Amino acid sequence: MDILIQDADIIRSTERFGGSIGIKNGKIVAIYRDGEAAGQAGQIIDAKGRALMPGFIDMHCHHREGSEPGFEYKETIRTATMAAAAGGVTTAVGMPNVVPPPNSLELLQRQFARYEQGSLIDWNFNPPPMIREEIPKMATSGIAAFKIFMVVDTGRSYPHMPGIGVHDHGKLLEIMQHCAEVNVPLMVHPHDQALMDVIEQAYWKRGERDALAYAKAYAAYDGVIWETAIATLLRLQKAAGCHLHLLHTQTAGSVELIRQAKRAGQRVTCELNPWALFLGCDWAAIQRLGSYGLSYWVPEKNVPGLWEGLADGTIDILATDHAPHTREEKEIGWTDGWKAHTGTPSIQFYRSMFMTAALEGKIPMERVIEAGATAPARIFGFETKGDIAIGKDADLVLVDLDEEFEIRDEDVLSLVGWSPYAGRRVRAKTVQTFVRGTTVYRDGEVVGSPGFGKHAHARYPG
Ligand SMILES: [Zn+2]
Repeated sequence: MDILIQDADIIRSTERFGGSIGIKNGKIVAIYRDGEAAGQAGQIIDAKGRALMPGFIDMHCHHREGSEPGFEYKETIRTATMAAAAGGVTTAVGMPNVVPPPNSLELLQRQFARYEQGSLIDWNFNPPPMIREEIPKMATSGIAAFKIFMVVDTGRSYPHMPGIGVHDHGKLLEIMQHCAEVNVPLMVHPHDQALMDVIEQAYWKRGERDALAYAKAYAAYDGVIWETAIATLLRLQKAAGCHLHLLHTQTAGSVELIRQAKRAGQRVTCELNPWALFLGCDWAAIQRLGSYGLSYWVPEKNVPGLWEGLADGTIDILATDHAPHTREEKEIGWTDGWKAHTGTPSIQFYRSMFMTAALEGKIPMERVIEAGATAPARIFGFETKGDIAIGKDADLVLVDLDEEFEIRDEDVLSLVGWSPYAGRRVRAKTVQTFVRGTTVYRDGEVVGSPGFGKHAHARYPG
């Protein structure tokens, strides 16, 4: 064996035990439970007192860098995956609002080339299924999903840029049919633009335009813009038969709609973003941070339903929606919330935040690992990832569960250099992160190299 990680507290989605892990050629080749004699290895890592778990897989991460100049001043593949390595994330999947949106195989391959140069960890990319003839070609290139927004931004042209937003129901149905034909999941950011047009006009007429008005508009009528969209998408899914993966689950009503659809046997899965439980649900934080604290406002009464949905598996996975924007792009939100770019950076700290919640008894630790690593691998077909088992890639994170630390702007590796979570104390600090057996982060330092990351090919199980 090349490496033996010795005497760890090993946590999988299904069990927890003391033991050691042997790695050879980037794969897990041996698992020794306490008391079993371990084999020889070139390098021994003493993991006493530390938890060893599968590296997290982030299916929804805005890396900003495209194959042409555009938004790389916000983030690059290199900086986003440095932050990911520090957070114990070993695979990150990019989102299509880059320049140009990779809506053809040729553009997608150019996008892949950027990852081959820049990524420290394994990666994939969710392209937009906007050109009919390109969908089958992109579907066989190892992608895990397609992605569209239902949003058409008013007052700004980013992050929901033109060319990848679809809110026409007929077009949505067609796209779902195309995704069903090629059997690749479709990720959708649900949003009812017709309702939003009416709601935001009412705010603007009253002269309410700041970040707080923006927050309230998106949450209006108990989340009507979200739930109407989800209800429509679920009905269209039933018509098209595709695998629908809903993004940004954030109202208790949405969880209930998804629960019913799953009970009825529909092919639907969904994600939960850290901002829903640790940021957007705290009105005082939104008042203090303005646009810096917004993705979206999640009124507190939704929070128990979100935890319940996560615990019972209605919510399948954790994904960051890591969405970095510069301070300048957020600052304008104090006067015009609609001009501020929406979204918040989070990939470096979300694993620690969810694990701190687990340590506080809000959710079982095993369920956090399931939703953060094992379920994304299973749902999107990363056969060699997401678990500690013989034959899997040694994508691992060594964690000090007890060590508490403060999230600070100066420690943020994302290019924007700030975090809406700054000032919070969390536990479950990353000690060391391994991608296919190679250390990419250790004791506070990124040691991985750009370009080491490989395309994590999805073999979608259907
Ligand atoms: Zn997003």
